[in-house]
Amino acid sequence: MNADLLVVGSGVAGCSAALAADDAGADVTLVTKATAPDDATSYWAQGGIAVSRGDPDAFREDVLAAGDGACDPAAVDTLVAAADDAVREVLIDRLGVPFDGDDEFDFGREAAHSENRILHVDAATGAAVLPRFLSHLRTETSVDVVEDTAALDLVTHEGRVHGALLESGGDVEPCVAGATLLATGGIGAAYGRTTNPPGATGDGVAMAALAGADVADMEYVQFHPTACVVDSEGANPAGDRPGTGDGEVPFLVSEAVRGEGAVLRDGDGERFMPDRHPDADLAPRDVVARAVRERREATGEVRLDVSGVAFAAEFPGLAERCREHGVDPDEGIPVAPAQHFLCGGIDVDRDGRASLDRLFAAGECARTGVHGANRLASTSLLEGLVFGRRAGRAAAGFDPEPVETPDLRDSDPALPERFAAEKFHRLRSTMSEHVGIERTPDGLRKAGAGLRRLKGEVDAYTRTRTARELYELRNATVCGLLVARAAAENDTSRGCHHLAAESHAD
Ligand SMILES: Cc1cc2nc3c(=O)[nH]c(=O)nc-3n(C[C@H](O)[C@H](O)[C@H](O)COP(=O)(O)OP(=O)(O)OC[C@H]3O[C@@H](n4cnc5c(N)ncnc54)[C@H](O)[C@@H]3O)c2cc1C
Repeated sequence: MNADLLVVGSGVAGCSAALAADDAGADVTLVTKATAPDDATSYWAQGGIAVSRGDPDAFREDVLAAGDGACDPAAVDTLVAAADDAVREVLIDRLGVPFDGDDEFDFGREAAHSENRILHVDAATGAAVLPRFLSHLRTETSVDVVEDTAALDLVTHEGRVHGALLESGGDVEPCVAGATLLATGGIGAAYGRTTNPPGATGDGVAMAALAGADVADMEYVQFHPTACVVDSEGANPAGDRPGTGDGEVPFLVSEAVRGEGAVLRDGDGERFMPDRHPDADLAPRDVVARAVRERREATGEVRLDVSGVAFAAEFPGLAERCREHGVDPDEGIPVAPAQHFLCGGIDVDRDGRASLDRLFAAGECARTGVHGANRLASTSLLEGLVFGRRAGRAAAGFDPEPVETPDLRDSDPALPERFAAEKFHRLRSTMSEHVGIERTPDGLRKAGAGLRRLKGEVDAYTRTRTARELYELRNATVCGLLVARAAAENDTSRGCHHLAAESHAD
């Protein structure tokens, strides 16, 4: 297989990049290990997509404040300046996403936004965007969309990336490409309790790092404060596929619900956020997540009180999820923090260029600098859209060059039974215990040692086997190591990276 541009990943970032490169005349192949739109996190996005509403300065200030002094201001400028046009040109004019509102849009509000500026479709925005995007690529462009196909490793030669080795149905073949753009999403599968879909195994970040590309800000892993938890003990054991595993999160309760007036109460029925932050329940995510965790430990549970919100009318999708999982919203929705988003990733410039020649990255796997130490709500779809387009344009126009590719055809596509499940369980336990919402130097040292051992055990198998789940396990472990290492090297608590006096299990 050959292409001018190989895009890996079919979330909002991969689709945006593929569309822009196709517009620029490139021959684009988009491969995805997904078999359905909901395998991508983009499908799961609830609250929506932020726009500037003609006031980029206010939007910029909110992004910078949430990022806690660690954003790249130039990247934030790019994001806010391009937001309104990108949303209109792609999502509204080309895809026809039916954002809520009659004559005028119904702009929502979420934590740490100073204004109502979030376009949404109920609280299921991703589900309204992604299937339209994929269908548009298939029917209105020349992009070749190839499903159920996983990139296992990048093909590199003398510092230049020439495509990737692709696994499909147990067979491994190279795709030689003029440029390669990673848009593989987040790393949630490395954690015990996550809001991410099971395929969020950090493949792009790990493949890039293993090929020698720079990564940055890996310690800034965002935890969402209000994941619904039906079984707070997390009785669900690791499954056969790398999944959310222990402490499974049935669904996320969007910040938009707090934006409409819902409040958090601890096990004694008391509100606690007004004492913690001037913005109370709408404080930045890291502040709310730590408070929720602390009150759960002190009082047994935290519930989201939605009595002040027309919940079923305003959030019919979430009301349905509550019914499905036996949660009565009138009694308050039981919530806990869960791993949600990677602020760091493959270090890229504002056109998505990574530190290796002809390697590009966009979306959650990329570190553009817009999120700093903590992402502002509803800016991730926007980041994928804006920077995905820029990266797609910049990556168009390279011809594939002849290159020798590794031959893995004789490798065994199988794995011993339970191998990946057992090791994923170890990985998630380590990450949740020591590299979670609060970290200690001692915990990070233990995590580093345990993860290095785990990586060694996994590497012994990747030498001779090509099972997709083995590579996913390797990638999630590499991401775990990168997070643990970056956290250990940063002794300043900031945003999502919080050093505590003692270690807690999460
Ligand atoms: C429950 C939930 C709610 C959220 N709500 C919002 C919101 O309201 N607004 C907002 O802005 N953000 C929200 N986010 C965050 C946002 O959805 C994600 O950060 C964003 O969609 C990531 O987009 P992406 O294109 O980078 O990755 P994804 O959408 O995750 O796509 C990654 C793609 O890469 C594929 N892939 C991965 N590895 C490989 C491989 N090795 N080979 C081939 N394909 C591969 C995957 O199958 C997938 O198709 C939410 C996240 C969650 C979990």
